[in-house]
Amino acid sequence: LAGCLGDDDDVIVPGTASGFPPFEFREDGELMGFDIDLLEAVVAETEYELGEWEDFDFDGLIPALTGDRIDVIAAAMTISPDRQETIAFTDPYWESDQAVLVREDDGFQPASWTDFEGRPVGAQSGTTGAEQVQTNLIDTGVIDEDDYSSYDNYVFAVEDLENGNIDGVVIDLPVAETFAAQRDVAIAFVEETGEEYGFGLRQDESELQTALNDGLAAVRDGDEYAEITDRWFGQ
Ligand code: GLN
Repeated sequence: LAGCLGDDDDVIVPGTASGFPPFEFREDGELMGFDIDLLEAVVAETEYELGEWEDFDFDGLIPALTGDRIDVIAAAMTISPDRQETIAFTDPYWESDQAVLVREDDGFQPASWTDFEGRPVGAQSGTTGAEQVQTNLIDTGVIDEDDYSSYDNYVFAVEDLENGNIDGVVIDLPVAETFAAQRDVAIAFVEETGEEYGFGLRQDESELQTALNDGLAAVRDGDEYAEITDRWFGQ
């Protein structure tokens, strides 16, 4: 059974959610990005072997992990107490805040959440960006629940923003910067959430957790971390 640790060999099956550049995305069908390279480098430092990448919607990753379809999540996933009730994480490997994307060259230039009064907003289902919409816009009454659109993938949210179907997308800052460089969208403002990304694991895999943490430390100590960072975040 693929994805079950304790089998004959120590192959671990990685899962991601592509459409989140530069962390994980597809170019000509090929999966690539910072998380892909980092996890591969980290696992190479351990006695485990990495299996074939599986690609899910972001909100399908934790069920896939707990259901043994994958063994590790590499998807720019924020370490949060909520998620830690269900899964475990490695040590953090990246930091992020949330950004609000709007259309470029558009009259609407919000400087804060309250400027969204009555306007349609989108985020990807199951993300910390969606949580920001809930707490800063819906709970505060700035927008109605009906004004919020939930997407399976941020790419669809950004397309809907470009098309004018929504007026804002709440998304991790490094990914907002990437979309702003590639598409007709711009960052309106940033919410400093101070999130940290970790690789996700099942709670009963402490041996794998230790191995990946040691691997991460080894990659960081060598030249490889800077190389990978440069590849995906360099100019
Ligand atoms: N970091 C955010 C979260 O964990 C978004 C991750 C993503 O969309 N891949 O919810």
